[in-house]
Amino acid sequence: MAETHAVVTLLTHTPDPLSLVYAAFRQCYHAGSVADMWPRLLNGDIPRERQAEFVSRILESGHVSPIEHVSFTFVLDGVSRALTHQLVRHRIASYSQQSQRYVAAQDFDYLVPPRVAENPEALRRFNDCMATIGKTYTELKALLEADGHASANEDARFVLPQAAASRIVVTMNCRSLLNFFEHRTCMRAQWEIRGVARQMLRLCQGVLPEIFRHAGPRCERLGYCPEGAFSCGRHPAKGTL
Ligand SMILES: Cc1cc2nc3c(=O)[nH]c(=O)nc-3n(C[C@H](O)[C@H](O)[C@H](O)COP(=O)(O)OP(=O)(O)OC[C@H]3O[C@@H](n4cnc5c(N)ncnc54)[C@H](O)[C@@H]3O)c2cc1C
Repeated sequence: MAETHAVVTLLTHTPDPLSLVYAAFRQCYHAGSVADMWPRLLNGDIPRERQAEFVSRILESGHVSPIEHVSFTFVLDGVSRALTHQLVRHRIASYSQQSQRYVAAQDFDYLVPPRVAENPEALRRFNDCMATIGKTYTELKALLEADGHASANEDARFVLPQAAASRIVVTMNCRSLLNFFEHRTCMRAQWEIRGVARQMLRLCQGVLPEIFRHAGPRCERLGYCPEGAFSCGRHPAKGTL
């Protein structure tokens, strides 16, 4: 058992993402088939800057569905069950999470909240609690196995904490990612998912800056903070404008 930290890895994304978004937009206004223009797009005959300019102009009009054709797949390692519970609330996505039924957890790693880590007495109690849970889990699992239950993990896991580390593969399309970043890079989001969302955003910006350059908390798009009294002060709160 040990303290762990979130690591975000971009596994893959849709190939030629800008060209695909451009082709999808163009199909809406083009009498022929974009299949004919696709080889020219891949050859670079239509410069990236021209594609980007067209895409951003249409996006500003609110016509956003063509960006749904491009998706990004990440694996999040060393994230807490508290984080994954929040993550999977984002329904326009696909998930594959490490199972606590098939993967035994007697030596589970765990996340320590920074404010707990800063306080020596809180940290001591936190670590003691994790050790006690690990011991109880192991004892419960052994008791259930001795009774002949093949699926002891399934019941023993009920004592595991929200701090227990997990791994999850997540795929989201660009439209869903923009919504995810608006909610989860905001200072109102919880510290762990905010950190993970910021890592995911940086990875998306590296691949597709044309779509993600201005992505971030909702206030960046709105020009004001919709959180009212909970505002972090980055932008004026609604009602104070
Ligand atoms: C700071 C913060 C605090 C939160 N606190 C709580 C809390 O206390 N309790 C709690 O339960 N949740 C809480 N949430 C979760 C939040 O309510 C959302 O469930 C979560 O952020 C997923 O957002 P989403 O629905 O926009 O995403 P997605 O599920 O990915 O949906 C994307 C978009 O699709 C549309 N959509 C999807 N499903 C439907 C539907 N069924 N009907 C209509 N439109 C749909 C909506 O436009 C939605 O914005 C919190 C989130 C944040 C960021």
